[in-house]
Amino acid sequence: MDYNLTDEQKDLVAVARGIAEENMKPVRRQYDREGTYPWDIVRLLADAGLFGVYIPKEYGGRGMGVFELVLVVEELSRVDAGIALCLAGTALGAYPILLGGNDEQKEKYLTPLAKGEKVAAFALTEHEAGSNPIAMTTSAVKDGDSYIVNGAKCFITNGGDADIYTLMAVTNKQKGARGISAFVVEKDTPGFDFGKKENKLGIRASSTRELVFDDCRLPKENLLAREGMGLILTLRTFDATRPGVAAQALGIATGALEEAIAFTTSHPAGGESLASSQGIQHKLADMATEVEASRALLYATARMVDSGKTRSTKESAMSKLYCSDIAMRVASDAVGLFGERGCLNDYPVEKMMRDAKITQIYEGTNQIQRNEIALALIKEMAAGSSR
Ligand SMILES: Cc1cc2nc3c(=O)[nH]c(=O)nc-3n(C[C@H](O)[C@H](O)[C@H](O)COP(=O)(O)OP(=O)(O)OC[C@H]3O[C@@H](n4cnc5c(N)ncnc54)[C@H](O)[C@@H]3O)c2cc1C
Repeated sequence: MDYNLTDEQKDLVAVARGIAEENMKPVRRQYDREGTYPWDIVRLLADAGLFGVYIPKEYGGRGMGVFELVLVVEELSRVDAGIALCLAGTALGAYPILLGGNDEQKEKYLTPLAKGEKVAAFALTEHEAGSNPIAMTTSAVKDGDSYIVNGAKCFITNGGDADIYTLMAVTNKQKGARGISAFVVEKDTPGFDFGKKENKLGIRASSTRELVFDDCRLPKENLLAREGMGLILTLRTFDATRPGVAAQALGIATGALEEAIAFTTSHPAGGESLASSQGIQHKLADMATEVEASRALLYATARMVDSGKTRSTKESAMSKLYCSDIAMRVASDAVGLFGERGCLNDYPVEKMMRDAKITQIYEGTNQIQRNEIALALIKEMAAGSSR
């Protein structure tokens, strides 16, 4: 389908595809096996200017938007969604600064992120506060011109490898959702350390770690926006970054579909290829239709986010939900089409299936996306608004 990409957007896709094919494909199995952070690929993506696509030009970025971020993440994830997360996870860490930071904070933190000199992370989840962030207990207590942070975060993408962390912490427990504030924490701040690195099912090239805060003193200049704005910044961040998770899922689905077509058209079966069977053809047709429907929804959503005309909470949730469910189905179908080979790590589809599962879970599980979509529908109905 033609999505009317500009020449600049086509160039961006070509650059991302070049790195994915030439540099990521040969090493993806090794990264999946070893679970190490892909610093060599980070350098290549940085040199190609891909870390800065969504960051304004005044802070060293390319001044594009969520749509271009989606295009890049999709292309990289077509080959390896775990490696792609070094860039997408950095965008998740950068967006609260982009949306809530003052000029000084943006200059200080976004400039090195735009150049890919530093990597970022976003820290919301705790062991007892995943789907319900209001239950978080990590606290930031005002003490003169600083805040003292105590507590722990878990499952933090880029944790330990990132230099810049956007942290959500309770500044006023009595205020509930309005008592959570956002801070920037730099690696090597005294009192800030790392706990367990998780050994994951998929996206294994991406590090996922615990963050531990023990009387960690942050200057008040590290507060983003105002006290109590943490959850609002989080929700606005997710509007912009859930399309990024959807793009990761779309990339996985596209990669799995391509592998399935290549395999079934070349694998012999009864003197012909597997793909000469109409049953197989129908499966491929369904997979391709679902992938294209995902792309159409996601691209429309990303363009809506960039237009800035209205909040895109419902559409961003729909994109994340639909693209990740389709990625899981298409990757699983691809494993099935490979037959017994589908279960072997000699072929890329089993890894794609493992990677796809995680896109249904993070940045809000798909149950939470459904909750948000339904809430938006009910609000729209109450407000009498129509499509
Ligand atoms: C690989 C990976 C990377 C991650 N990266 C980050 C990161 O960078 N930063 C960060 O802050 N977090 C990160 N997370 C955490 C992730 O966002 C959470 O795991 C996710 O939000 C779910 O929270 P939970 O695991 O506590 O599940 P729970 O909230 O305990 O949910 C358990 C189950 O109950 C369901 N459930 C819970 N509440 C409801 C409800 N109200 N309605 C319907 N169903 C419900 C959920 O859908 C789920 O199926 C990451 C997670 C993973 C796996």
